[in-house]
Amino acid sequence: MIPADLAVVGISELATPEGRSARTGPDLGRLRTIRDAGIAVRDGAIVFVGSERELREAVEVPPGDATIDARGGTVVPGFVDAHTHLPFAGWREQEFARRLMGATYAEIAAEGGGILSTVAATRRASRDELIALASERLDAMLAAGTTLAEAKSGYGLDLANEIKQLEAIRIAASGHPLRVVPTFLGAHTVPAERRADRGRYLDELVGTMIPEIVGRRLAVYADAFVDARAFSIAEARRVLGAAREAGLGVRLHADQLADDGAAALAAELGAASADHLEHVSGGGIEALAGAGTVAILLPAARLFLMQEAKPPARRLIDAGVPVALATDFNPGTAPCEAMGPTLELASLTLGLSVDEALTAATLNAAHALGLAGETGSIEVGKRADFVVHAVPNRHHLVYRFGVRRVETVVAGGRVAIRRGVRAPRDRT
Ligand SMILES: [Zn+2]
Repeated sequence: MIPADLAVVGISELATPEGRSARTGPDLGRLRTIRDAGIAVRDGAIVFVGSERELREAVEVPPGDATIDARGGTVVPGFVDAHTHLPFAGWREQEFARRLMGATYAEIAAEGGGILSTVAATRRASRDELIALASERLDAMLAAGTTLAEAKSGYGLDLANEIKQLEAIRIAASGHPLRVVPTFLGAHTVPAERRADRGRYLDELVGTMIPEIVGRRLAVYADAFVDARAFSIAEARRVLGAAREAGLGVRLHADQLADDGAAALAAELGAASADHLEHVSGGGIEALAGAGTVAILLPAARLFLMQEAKPPARRLIDAGVPVALATDFNPGTAPCEAMGPTLELASLTLGLSVDEALTAATLNAAHALGLAGETGSIEVGKRADFVVHAVPNRHHLVYRFGVRRVETVVAGGRVAIRRGVRAPRDRT
């Protein structure tokens, strides 16, 4: 008999992609599904996945609370949110109200709104305030079924404030059931005080900020925003090239508002991901496919910006580009930390099947963070990160859009959310 310290039974349907790297092309929507399933966990790892009948024959089912009855719910892997701007201060609801009345993003930015208003609020916030804000948001993400997320700095835009943001990420994440991968986004935009001398800001990024952040081990990745209002291809190449040499992985905000050739730069740099891609060119798609760079699509940001252009999801999939999904959680263009709406929009506006969206939001997103060998699917040997949704099968996750039915979240083998509420912290 297989010993277990946690088991889940009463599962109407279990649905998961399989593998230790991203699924592409026709494999994107190929899931393993099991009716009347059971899962067993020991020491944080999955030790059994199969039918409940097989589980009862093969596993020593633990007593009491350690065996969870899913009550006919559906189990899928914990969502992986591969692109968030977690540690910021200050919401921008007034700007949103103005946009609804017809103000453009450019007009709002010219009046001091946009990213720079979040930079000002984040600089004013203390590290403790940012930790509290980030912790609250991690709780909300976890309750919505996310068990792994990336988190970017990029609202500090000077050494002290970028370090403050990255330390806030580290401290908020330490001991939190939701695992966090930190990214340094000093190349988000040029701060107001350097607009007259952007060369000096680039020198600071490369000469001071990257070495200091690497020295303090505060980030795993570096990111840059290639855009007419942010950084050129040549500037991003310089910053991310330096980051890569210093030992960081790289990712890019690419081709969101125009075809800047950023997807090709991502491929050239061997980036882990190129994100957004509403305006990616055919050549950019080919380059991503050749490099194995993950295309992270952010349909909530597109919705919120009321953007016409769509990322060519089907062309990316057909070309063999690994496709993942993320929220882009941030106060200006995607103030939604839950992955549910992102899956719904991926299906309803970008044309992914429910099964493709599930793989993109779990295994492929984990691959984009370099962690597909450990998590992102429900398989023996992987970290036990999975969620019971109170729906009869996976299709209901998208089909009954707008309603959240997260019942139980298991993160790292521990029950983090039980019956929809945060479980008391286990002994550690
Ligand atoms: Zn972003």
